[in-house]
Amino acid sequence: MILVKGRIKEALRLIKQRIARNLAWRRLSDTLFPTEVWIENTNLCNARCVMCPRDKHIRPPGVMDFGLFEKIIAEIAGHRRFVYRVHFHNYGEPLIDLRLAERIRIAKAHGIRRTYFVTNASLLTPDRTRELIKAGLDEFKISFYGTDAKSYNATMVGLDFDKTVGNVRDFFRIRRQLKVRNPSVVIQYLPQESNSGTVDAFKSLFGQMINERLGDRINIFSLHNFAGGREFNKLPEKVQSICDYPWRTMVILNSGDVVLCCLDYNGVQVAGNVRNDSLQAVWLGQRMQKARQQFKQLNYSVFPACLRCERIR
Ligand code: SF4
Repeated sequence: MILVKGRIKEALRLIKQRIARNLAWRRLSDTLFPTEVWIENTNLCNARCVMCPRDKHIRPPGVMDFGLFEKIIAEIAGHRRFVYRVHFHNYGEPLIDLRLAERIRIAKAHGIRRTYFVTNASLLTPDRTRELIKAGLDEFKISFYGTDAKSYNATMVGLDFDKTVGNVRDFFRIRRQLKVRNPSVVIQYLPQESNSGTVDAFKSLFGQMINERLGDRINIFSLHNFAGGREFNKLPEKVQSICDYPWRTMVILNSGDVVLCCLDYNGVQVAGNVRNDSLQAVWLGQRMQKARQQFKQLNYSVFPACLRCERIR
């Protein structure tokens, strides 16, 4: 009996393994266009958060020019059946860009399904909230890494706890007053030394504000090494998995450079530029194809950011 049970268990394990492998390979099948496009409207930030490698960031600071942005959106619109979501941020605080709402309005007018960004909410004044709701923003995430003035101000250096909590509260109030369902909000916490990791306190701070029926939720994230920008986690020696970013996501920096993923904060793994080329030409281009081939062979030797990334170990 014990022997039979053991065999059944082993057979189930093998079936599960085969399904997981098939799913993983399906994610790696070639597509004509990315399912998610990130547009870095700005790489400027008004904070100096302790877990972020902004002190090592050497790309020229700036905001993406509107002509380039409109070219990108027009092309995404032409392929919108492939695109699940467009991100209006990458390595920077998106609300520094005063035309953010206008960009979202244009994207929605072009039929883009879901618009999204991640913000620290320090600049999310009631006026900006109204502007974003009116523009048709679908969802956004707030990075809020503290539970009181002491822990927040020590982690999100340069920002002010009371002011940001006030903005978040105002956002929920205005959304209620306007009786709209969108945008939904994820409020994210990142336990770490500087904020003493008090998850319960975080949940009680925002649990009453969010509305789960509208899709709001609280997310608890964990520290990562930012592809070598920080060293929170020890890297295992061996590379053992294929990163699926180049099969699903296109990240466009404010210069028009396309990089392999959002962790490449200095833009060292460039696959092309969409100022003169189309997004699809870059997506199907030689550099992306070569990267996909090398990733499949677990050969990351020419990708300095990947070599220092936990995702593949
Ligand atoms: S392995 Fe890491 S650095 Fe490389 S593309 Fe994937 S997420 Fe980015």
